[in-house]
Amino acid sequence: MTERDPNCLFCRIVVGEIPSDRLLEDDRVVVFRDVNPQAPTHILAIPRVHVPSAAELTDEDGDLIAALFGALRAVAEDAGLHDYRIVTNVGAGAGQSVFHLHFHLLAGRRLTWPPG
Ligand code: 5GP
Ligand code: ZN
Repeated sequence: MTERDPNCLFCRIVVGEIPSDRLLEDDRVVVFRDVNPQAPTHILAIPRVHVPSAAELTDEDGDLIAALFGALRAVAEDAGLHDYRIVTNVGAGAGQSVFHLHFHLLAGRRLTWPPG
């Protein structure tokens, strides 16, 4: 895990080099709206540190994962959401386009299963 990758889009969002519509942030995580929403509510939760994907998480990252899910839970509660999906893509073949770990939270429309 590197603290920051200067070429990474989400690392640049973390430090404010690229603006984002932030809903919540703390010393570990930042939660902001997706610029190209796939549902009426489409939010991303990311760690401040650069982790390329869920495949690079380790046993030491338990607190970080709890912080990410805690932030998503807080945002969902604030928005009064009861039905939503949290998803993370690992690898380009699964749809990952930004290689800094992020959890999508999608809500506000009927979500089909299985995802495409
Ligand atoms: P992935 O395809 O890696 O699972 O998800 C990346 C997400 O980041 C996409 O949903 C995409 O719309 C979003 N995204 C890409 N660039 C930006 C940006 O500059 N700002 C924000 N807020 N979202 C972005
Ligand atoms: Zn990054």
